[in-house]
Amino acid sequence: MSIIESLIKDKLNSKDHNTSDIDYIVNSYLDNKISDVEMTSWLKAVFNNGMNIDETIAYTSSIINSGTKIEFNNLDGYIVDKHSTGGIGDKVSIILGPILAACDCYVPMIVGRHLGHTGGTLDKLESIPGYNGLLSTNRFQEIVKNVGISIIGQTDEICPADRKIYTLRGQTNTVASFPLICGSIMSKKIAEGIQGLVLDIKTGNGAFIPDSKEAKKLGNLLSLIGKEFDVDVKYATTDMNQPLGNYAGLLCEVYESIKCLKGDGPKDLMDVIFHLGEIALTMAGQDNPRKRMVEVINDGSAFEILCKMIFEHGGDYKKINFNYTNSIDIKSSDEGYLKYIDTKKIGSIINFLTISNDRLDNNAGIKFFKKNGDSVKQGDIICRIFSGSNKIIESIINQIKETYTITY
Ligand code: URA
Repeated sequence: MSIIESLIKDKLNSKDHNTSDIDYIVNSYLDNKISDVEMTSWLKAVFNNGMNIDETIAYTSSIINSGTKIEFNNLDGYIVDKHSTGGIGDKVSIILGPILAACDCYVPMIVGRHLGHTGGTLDKLESIPGYNGLLSTNRFQEIVKNVGISIIGQTDEICPADRKIYTLRGQTNTVASFPLICGSIMSKKIAEGIQGLVLDIKTGNGAFIPDSKEAKKLGNLLSLIGKEFDVDVKYATTDMNQPLGNYAGLLCEVYESIKCLKGDGPKDLMDVIFHLGEIALTMAGQDNPRKRMVEVINDGSAFEILCKMIFEHGGDYKKINFNYTNSIDIKSSDEGYLKYIDTKKIGSIINFLTISNDRLDNNAGIKFFKKNGDSVKQGDIICRIFSGSNKIIESIINQIKETYTITY
């Protein structure tokens, strides 16, 4: 029996791994010494039988050590980041990052692509013409220092093991596992060289961990791991029983982010941004955080920082032209109140619309006209689907209709 076969067997029998077992698994997978099939078996064994706190810390450490850990010296502000456990229409990082930078923090942000049914910040930013999300570590550090924020993905230099395992987890239904989520999120965040981290733990039917008690357990575990690596972690649980904001997709989310930074964001989205921002700025030792955030939106400085960051990444915010060719409005045939949205299903449909079969449609997405609890009349528009292809839109109309429950 090979080493990996024996380690998979151990996990299937709920036997704990030691640090060198975990290093072996992470490094061998990164070096192509164990196959996708073997790694999938191990991920499934962890998904079903878990890992204890020591194993989870060792797993996080192995992923960090698969690349470089950044150290920022001589920055004259608090180094902080925000990360979400994953949602639909969740563009908070693109808005809150520049706000925090405008409030004198430094925000080195390493993010992921779409995972399972959820969207990815990196995919959204790369829909901006020219935006390069895979910069070298030196360039990343330089932009953080000069602009206050840079957002990149896992690269060959930083957390390469997470990049590879993350993709496989997305393909093998092994996302919703506490130790795997902890290792994935915390490795990226610890490798950034931050002092503080605010976590947005999503709950509800569109979240990986729908139950709020379980979500809090996840928050506590993530905080514990942060402590182990000297990062101050605070978390909030926020609602994912419906898409966040009015848009979900790729470029349409950047478009909505710009609206938020220009003071015209939807309430549900702005509430989450201000809530998480208050936590981050309090950690940074600032007074009146809410007032400060409103100021940097109103005086345009947060928006200016987003534009500068896009420019330093090779993009041009003036070229952001959210422009769809085909759209269909989904109208209600019922009357009543919007009682339920199958948010997970909406997420999978968005990923199908925007990123499927290696086909990218940056302008595809959905605009939402109704939120949970809203009254709905017959003929009211519930949502608008847009895409480069009418055929694709038509193929999902019934699925979209099935995601909405309207009753009295
Ligand atoms: N975000 C991540 O970066 N990793 C996960 O596993 C889930 C959400």
